[in-house]
Amino acid sequence: MRKPLLAGNWKMFKNPAETRAFFQAFKPLVASSTNEIVICPPFVNVAAAVEETQGSNIGIGAQNLYWGTEGAFTGEVSGPMLKAAGCGYVIVGHSERRQFFGETDATVLKRTQAALEHGLTPIICVGETLAEREANRTDEVLLTQFDGGIAGLTAEEFAKSVVAYEPVWAIGTGKVATPEMAAAAHKTIRERAAQKFGPAAAASLRILYGGSVNPGNVKTLMAEEEIDGALVGGASLKPDSFASVVNFDS
Ligand code: PEP
Repeated sequence: MRKPLLAGNWKMFKNPAETRAFFQAFKPLVASSTNEIVICPPFVNVAAAVEETQGSNIGIGAQNLYWGTEGAFTGEVSGPMLKAAGCGYVIVGHSERRQFFGETDATVLKRTQAALEHGLTPIICVGETLAEREANRTDEVLLTQFDGGIAGLTAEEFAKSVVAYEPVWAIGTGKVATPEMAAAAHKTIRERAAQKFGPAAAASLRILYGGSVNPGNVKTLMAEEEIDGALVGGASLKPDSFASVVNFDS
């Protein structure tokens, strides 16, 4: 059984005061959920988020990390720093980082290995652009991203990882992939995982869908056997909307 994981990616939104206000409203709304709940705020809000969620059923993650542990890397934040600050998760290879900050499959692998080395659960993002989908290249792109990044993990590392399928054309656009489209992409990823890590490891892998998930569409997406959770941007910014996403099964 793969436990549903609902993760919010706040991107570059909210300050510490807004972060505290969010959790004060959000916590009671999801207190009875048995799903795994994660919020990934900007780095500067991690301390406030960790403090506000102490003793709750909500985990905190970062949106990126550097693969070194410490040193002369101005502007970077490392795995041990995130762990010490109270993070349990980290998003790696988000399409916005691939698009705007030069992220490659090779650096995704380094970040993922660093996350795992320091006890953080990586949420590794893959997904095709609209042009790639229209050119019928979705599977090819997903497999290239898998082979160039995730396939470099050891079996032990892979077992602790989460993958998020996030079609770039569906992120922040209001255009959600149909449940069938998402399930097909997840199947492609899971089949490759089975080839590389074996059927049992692939069957245990949680694959989240991300791209314009909201309270209105989460239930039909989650009804797909292949979809194990969601990575949610816009709809994770408001306590009531993200609570409705988390409570899709209540
Ligand atoms: C995301 O940021 O990963 C995302 C899926 O954003 P949105 O839900 O806003 O499309």
